[in-house]
Amino acid sequence: MKMKSTYVVHYSEIALKGKNRPVFARLLRYNLRRALAQVGKVAVHESEGRLVLDFEGDESDAEERIAKVFGVAWFARASIVPSEYDSIREEVVARAESHPGGTFRITARRTDKSFPIGSQELATRLGGDVVSRTGRTVSLSEPDLAVNVDVLKGMAMVYSSKSRGPGGLPVGTSGRVLHLFSGGIDSPVAAWLMMKRGCRPVYLHFYLAPTPEYAIKSKVIKEVRRLSDYSGKSTVVLVPFAQYQIATTGVPGDLEPSLFRRFMRVTAESLAAKFGASAISTGDCLAQAASQTVWNLGVFDEGSSLPILRPLLAYDKEEVIQLARKIGTYEVSLEEYKDCCAIVTRHPKTRAKRELISQFAERLAFDQLARESVDAATLVSFDPATGSLKASPLKEMGVSAGVIPGEPGEPLHASNVRQ
Ligand code: ATP
Ligand code: MG
Repeated sequence: MKMKSTYVVHYSEIALKGKNRPVFARLLRYNLRRALAQVGKVAVHESEGRLVLDFEGDESDAEERIAKVFGVAWFARASIVPSEYDSIREEVVARAESHPGGTFRITARRTDKSFPIGSQELATRLGGDVVSRTGRTVSLSEPDLAVNVDVLKGMAMVYSSKSRGPGGLPVGTSGRVLHLFSGGIDSPVAAWLMMKRGCRPVYLHFYLAPTPEYAIKSKVIKEVRRLSDYSGKSTVVLVPFAQYQIATTGVPGDLEPSLFRRFMRVTAESLAAKFGASAISTGDCLAQAASQTVWNLGVFDEGSSLPILRPLLAYDKEEVIQLARKIGTYEVSLEEYKDCCAIVTRHPKTRAKRELISQFAERLAFDQLARESVDAATLVSFDPATGSLKASPLKEMGVSAGVIPGEPGEPLHASNVRQ
């Protein structure tokens, strides 16, 4: 049912970001608008340290969406009343009357200092009126109903049930990362954690099949669709594994995993500038597999000019699975898919020799091999607002360095971000 509703949205850490705060708040507003525009009419404005979101559409859709926007600490559906005592009282009394519980608590915040009653006194007076009008009793520690009253300029907001947001920082505020995406359980969770810290992932997937269609129809893209609920538009680069396979024929089997992983890193690095990414991220968990020992992670990183971020490094598999379930990628990640890793992890060494890998990488001209592979890559973009999935050769990408259409390219003042 189409209805008008208003939400008060409180942001998390972004209130702490000094001079960058307006940039963070602007991206959060943008991300909220983007997420909710898919399900109704939305307007968001800032009012004295919180966001006020007006929405026309199905409330459950709105709430489901807000709960997936990073940067939101909590939100609540609110009633807006004139900023005068009698109107506030009527709303509070009505809420107490319609709630089945017997005890209540009122928390009042007066941010508009021209309102004649202070926060504490307002809560006490409203409490007294609720007791005399409804016969309910006050419980400060464990109330059945907790009512909040925020008195802002020109209006008051009354709300009772708060819902938790996902916390973190608005996607986009920490820039972009080239994210190595396998389609397994880990890499979608790692992408989600990168988003949670404000990064926008550009997904890079190496595929084995002769044409990209198999990858496009696979769980890889299904997972990206799920992740798009949290990030909005998503971009995936599908790079064929074929050239690499031909070039490395005859390489000793125990070097294959490390060598291929080095190749993935070199390719990611070569794509980073094109997409304005300033780091590479992966779904590695320390020592989860032989290819992920500290030594082999070092082999992966060797020579990289970009930081390699591994948000899952210290997670146990069980913890990753729990998160994957929560995010909604777990079931999809179990689907059958023939990926390159099945081939390269036959006989892994737990301590690959750095020099040896670097020698092979040089001898096999990885830089050029990466360029050739990228030349044959496919760009897939998914827009959750329209549900449209587009695939085209990466070579045809007309967009200049790293600007993804529809995204505000806000520069951050790095010096203002508190360490
Ligand atoms: P995952 O669930 O991420 O596949 P995994 O335990 O299968 O985890 P590996 O296959 O060893 O881990 O891969 C470790 C990481 O290497 C992945 O998380 C991902 O970042 C990257 N990776 C692996 N395979 C690919 C691929 N085909 N394309 C892009 N990145 C990959
Ligand atoms: Mg994998």
